[in-house]
Amino acid sequence: MTHVFHRNPKQQLAFAVRGQGIALFDQDNKSYIDASGGAAVSCLGHGHPVVIQAIKDQLDRIAYAHSSFFTTQAAEELADFLAERSPGDLNRIYFLSGGSEAVEAALKLARQYFVEIGQPTRRHFIARRQSYHGNTLGALAIGGNAWRREPFLPLLVPAHHVSPCYAYRDQLANETEEQYAERLAQELDQQIEALGAENVAAFVAETVVGATAGALAPVRTYLKRMREVCDRHGVLLILDEVMSGMGRTGHLFACAEDGVVPDIMTIAKGLGAGYQPIGAMVASDRIYDAVVAGSGFFQHGHTYMGHATACAAALAVQRVIEQEQLLSNVLQRGEQLRAELRSVLGDHPNVGDVRGRGLFVGVEFVQDKASKVTLNPAHKTHARLKKQAMENGLLMYPMGGTIDGVHGDHVLLAPPFICTPSDITEIVSRFARTV
Ligand code: PMP
Repeated sequence: MTHVFHRNPKQQLAFAVRGQGIALFDQDNKSYIDASGGAAVSCLGHGHPVVIQAIKDQLDRIAYAHSSFFTTQAAEELADFLAERSPGDLNRIYFLSGGSEAVEAALKLARQYFVEIGQPTRRHFIARRQSYHGNTLGALAIGGNAWRREPFLPLLVPAHHVSPCYAYRDQLANETEEQYAERLAQELDQQIEALGAENVAAFVAETVVGATAGALAPVRTYLKRMREVCDRHGVLLILDEVMSGMGRTGHLFACAEDGVVPDIMTIAKGLGAGYQPIGAMVASDRIYDAVVAGSGFFQHGHTYMGHATACAAALAVQRVIEQEQLLSNVLQRGEQLRAELRSVLGDHPNVGDVRGRGLFVGVEFVQDKASKVTLNPAHKTHARLKKQAMENGLLMYPMGGTIDGVHGDHVLLAPPFICTPSDITEIVSRFARTV
């Protein structure tokens, strides 16, 4: 009998005993290729000696000091590292313990910013129907999955949802990418007009949608068009890069590839790569200064923010990625992964789309390729897909789609950045045996 309050007691969990490189081992010493990094977390694989040493060194000095008394060298250096590489004028790093906390902080910063600059009615958020931003009540309110929100209604944050950029499903046959992006921008514009711009704080979007849609990247001009609409109405743009950031797409921040700078950005997952829990909210001096000039401080905070050991681990992770130039491997191995998946699964009757950027790859299952009808009742539930993959020694992240959370209509692959060409081929072979 276990005393752990398991989230879903129906899930049969293996015991993770150790991890080495791209593999995890269970209690029977069975090995699994970690092709999803948990949920796009373990970007350096497991047991990385440099990161482990950095954590040990930090623990020898100081594990933790509360942020209301101290800053630490680890926190300062990590903030410098991120500020120097963040897009545009984003240079203020607010450390947290994970993705939901980062999103929650971003929503609150947006709200407080508008209070400080004398626009207190800007309380509403617009997000997208296909999205996941975390499970705390604010993040949940903006997330797209209605079934996730259902048991917790009414939620505390007024949130509204527009269409995601989902070219595979929604771009019309006679429409160019630019026209499609324009159509989505008009939808956002109309939603803002309907609410009254003076009531809207921010538009929130994942740069590349992760958990709910399987590495769904926008068409190239989409984010620029959305940015323009936000600017026209004085609405902030919050980009959630909790999954897509920190090199997952082959660029340190996915939005840089689209040439767009958000007002606030959230990061987590690959930041600490699973070695320590850490997330961050990144903002500009413009927002930071307005808040500080007003109340004097951001009215938010958590006990473990800026945790020294977490910051030291993240700094070591990010330095390894940079020194070993792993992002060029991410780009190359990502191309290889998509190409091999397409070639091996090309004839699979239920594989509708293989997509993504870098090592952020999604496979979408459909009832039949022509109609693209989703939720194939004859196909597998995500629980079955996951179990079968584990039997085949593969960890992948199947998702119960947008509608009911049960059917496995997407699978996310997010292998470690250290994968070799033969690792990728092995992942594809185990994947093909599973689906
Ligand atoms: N935003 C995005 C885009 C995510 O993918 C996730 C986690 N899947 C979160 C926020 C929440 O992060 P966490 O689980 O660390 O709270």
